[in-house]
Amino acid sequence: MSTNNVHTSRKENAVNAIYSITPFTLLDYPDKTACILWFAGCNMRCLYCYNPDIVLGKGKISDNEALKFISSRKGLLDGVVFSGGESTLHKNIISLATEIKKIGMLIKVDTNGSNPHMIKSLLQNQLVDYIALDFKGTADSYKQITQSDLFQRFEETLLLLLNSTIKFEIRTTVHSELTDKKDLLWMQQYLETKGYRGKYYLQNTINNVPTLGNIENSQKAIDTFNYSSAEKINIVVRN
Ligand code: SF4
Repeated sequence: MSTNNVHTSRKENAVNAIYSITPFTLLDYPDKTACILWFAGCNMRCLYCYNPDIVLGKGKISDNEALKFISSRKGLLDGVVFSGGESTLHKNIISLATEIKKIGMLIKVDTNGSNPHMIKSLLQNQLVDYIALDFKGTADSYKQITQSDLFQRFEETLLLLLNSTIKFEIRTTVHSELTDKKDLLWMQQYLETKGYRGKYYLQNTINNVPTLGNIENSQKAIDTFNYSSAEKINIVVRN
């Protein structure tokens, strides 16, 4: 995904959590036009992550600067995507989302699921309209893939979403050296056991780009093996 910057000046005494802004996307918010705020920093280190600059970098854009840009797009865009990095690590997203809602924009949050408390707060305050939740791996493979110990937090977030009325999607990035068919079947059955119904998106790792783990290219695309053991979940390969 492109991270073409909106050029803004750094302000003193402002919270600069945003690394850059993509002014326009048709791809990142289902059926909506949107801009993307890329939040710096992440509490995971996924080996295949193709945004090392954002994960390891510092924010450069203040909330006020972002709001000025978003206000200028009122009537032109449907919504704003919080991506990164991991936006839910930044406490200021509550106040930022509150101001975006006042402008009249929809908000989508992309999350690795590691901060259920922030997701709960966003839900309770009706500050989010759509959530994309990353399902990184099985309970056994999660640590190797993400270099973190956050599977339980992911599960808390999943259960929170399942018990809410929010529109959300679940998605898994597949790298051939990290996730195999057996893992994907486990993950599909796990989702079914937890009560998830609907689409489960699989997407191939992006090859030939710098990654956090300097991992080699994924060797094979996701294939369409027999997923029928969990019929209530509809696998959709997205790329
Ligand atoms: S892919 Fe992993 S490391 Fe990269 S931003 Fe997402 S959760 Fe963080």
